[in-house]
Parts: sequence; structure tokens; C-alpha cells
Amino acid sequence: MVACHPDGAHALQVLNALLRLWAVPHGVSQAPDTIDRATRFGVADDRLQCRQVAVDVGDDEGAHLPSIAEARSYNAHMDVSDIGEFGLIKRLTAFLGPRKPDNLVLGIGDDAAVWREGDAYLVATTDTLVAGVHFLAGTPWADVGWKALATNVSDIAAMGAEPAFALVTLSVPPETPVEDLDGLYTGLRECATAYGVTIAGGDVVRANQFSVAVTLIGRARVAGSQPLLLRRGAALAGDLIAVSGTLGNAAAGLRRLRGGAGQDDALVGAQLRPHPRLALGREAALAGVSCGIDISDGLLQDVGHICEMSCLMALVKAQAVPISDALRSAYPDDALRLACTGGEDYELVLVGGRDLIERAAASSGVAVTFIGEMVDGPDRRARLLNDSGKEIEFGAEGWDHLRASERGA
Ligand SMILES: [Mg+2]
Repeated sequence: MVACHPDGAHALQVLNALLRLWAVPHGVSQAPDTIDRATRFGVADDRLQCRQVAVDVGDDEGAHLPSIAEARSYNAHMDVSDIGEFGLIKRLTAFLGPRKPDNLVLGIGDDAAVWREGDAYLVATTDTLVAGVHFLAGTPWADVGWKALATNVSDIAAMGAEPAFALVTLSVPPETPVEDLDGLYTGLRECATAYGVTIAGGDVVRANQFSVAVTLIGRARVAGSQPLLLRRGAALAGDLIAVSGTLGNAAAGLRRLRGGAGQDDALVGAQLRPHPRLALGREAALAGVSCGIDISDGLLQDVGHICEMSCLMALVKAQAVPISDALRSAYPDDALRLACTGGEDYELVLVGGRDLIERAAASSGVAVTFIGEMVDGPDRRARLLNDSGKEIEFGAEGWDHLRASERGA
């Protein structure tokens, strides 16, 4: 390391980083979460600093794999918590290279992958629940089983598609009582029956911590030769944003569970047994709505994914966000924050014209609330506005699996 004036050392380290990261067509940024590659370096003197240098490798990532490898070896240490779930997904995706088969319709980045198989369009998604991370000790096993499948059904609903077959992988500590897994499968079967899913296979492995991973495969409807899909990247400026049901109950339910509330509590029920909006997603796709997402990580974060993929900004009116009476009375001072950032509601966000969304709501029998609109704007995220048009900020917009958060055990 370099021992000299910190500014000089700093400059030397930057130069060193740039020399190592020689394939840098679009320059260097200090916002590594928003670009493709990052490396971290420090300045060894009395005023120790740590900075991150990020490298945008441009469109042809495959041509820069040597420089990516170099960046990783130069990087002394970077945890996945430094870049978060979404930074990690971007980073890993780049390693797969730019080439895609012609029949892949949607790859990484939407609620499910979609590919063409003959005249059919198949969809697939996967989701995992880990003990102590996604559910608390003492949660009824049937509820764990229900939720393990329901979270996947919600992703299929968010594509406007129909689920069909599931694969279930259990990672099980050997000392797990068999009756716990009987309970798990009772809940899995109940959810499968409710949503027309057949569990067709899976795997069982030994592990130190219990987890259940479900892969769900389904089918999109087709009009002519085109699939009817809800995509994150299909929003247009001027489109309205609508959301089903009410928000924040699941996050409030988790808080109440931690406080010792019973299973019969309505908010706890929303946390333990989410009911994906499969009919609404189906009717939205049939009505011609082309953009949607389910709320797994929090309203603002999930609408933010639509912003990113559609290259737009979302303006969400705080007073329009639907909040249940139960949530308002349980947490009057925190209801809006829970509704906007809590996650796990598994409600649907639909983006499009008012007529199409209202038609989908009427034909599915699911109430929706219009909460805002998509606009051209300086940044690709959801902005929550109060009555005066001033932005309300909560510090974090939602759940990230790899960063610290309120969720978990
Ligand atoms: Mg989703």
C-alpha cells in the first residue's frame, strides 16, 4: 500500500485501478450499484479511506470478461451485502454473456422468464423460503408450505399467465421432525389446489438450515401468434398506476407476530397466507394491459422496477395508497410507511389505461385503486408525493435480501 499524502495516494490508487481495469469504454463512476462492475480500494495512511471504483463495460460485456476477472482479483474484499440483491443480480447476469436463443422472450429481470415452445409461450419462476430469514420459528408448517407456493403463483400472476406444474426442493436438517414436513406438504397441497397447480417433482437434500425452494412453470395466453404478457418494461408515459387490495398488512402482521400475536389476527393472516391475484393478472392480460408487477419487496421498490425497465419515473400519491382499517388502527403513525415499503403483500400493480385496468378489475371481481402515473422524469424510480406535491422519503424503499432490513427472524 502507499504511505504518503492521502490525496496523492488516492490519485495513485485510482490510476492503479484504471490501469488494471483497462477495458473501460464508458468511463468510471463512483456509484457501483448502478453500473456493471465495481472494485474497492483503500488508502493506507492515518486518514484511511475506502472508496469504490465502478466500471461500465458498455453493451458488449462478453468482450470484457478478462477485465472483469481482473477487477475481481484486484478487489481485496467485497461482500454481497455491499452491492445488495439487485447489484448482485446485475453482476452475475453479466457473466452469462450477451447471447440469447431466439425463442427466449423474456430473460432475467422480470417476474418470470418466458420462452416460446412451438406455438406455446411457457413461463417459469422460482422462489425460496429459508427458516429464520423468511419465516419465524414457530410458524405453522402448513402456512410455510402455502406461502412457498403462493409467492411463486404471484410471480406468474404478475406476468398475466397461468401456473401449471411445480417442482419443490427441500433442504432439511436431519433432526427435523417428519410431522413438520407433513404439515408443510399439507399447506403446499392446499395452495396447489386453490390455484390449479400440480406438484410434479423436486429434490430433498441435507442442510444445516431448513429451506423450501419452489420452481413454478406455467403458460401465457396467446392472441394470434403473440403472448399476452404483463411486462415490467412495457409502461408508457401517461399510463396510470393501479394496485389491488390494500397494502402493508403483511408487514404489520410480521411485526405483530414478533410481538406474540396469535394466528387468528387479521394482519398476521396476511403475513402467513398471502392470496396471489391470479384472476386479476389473467383478466388484465386479456383486457390488453401490458405492464404489471407483484408486490413482494414493497410498493415503492417494486414500482421502481417498472421505472427502471420502462425508463420512466413514477409519481405515487400518498393519500391514494390503499390502507386497511386494521392497519390504520394497529399502527396509525406507521401505516403509510408499512404500506409503501413493507412488502410481502403479493398484490398486483397494473400500469396502463384506466379503461383497460377497470375492465380487468370488473371481470376478475378484484378491487383496484389508482395511485399515480408514469411520467418522463430525471430518475427511474417511484416518488411518493404528499398533498402538496412534496416527496415523502422513508430512507429505504423496500426489502433487499442481502442488505439489513426489518424483515426476518
Ligand atoms: Mg415478483
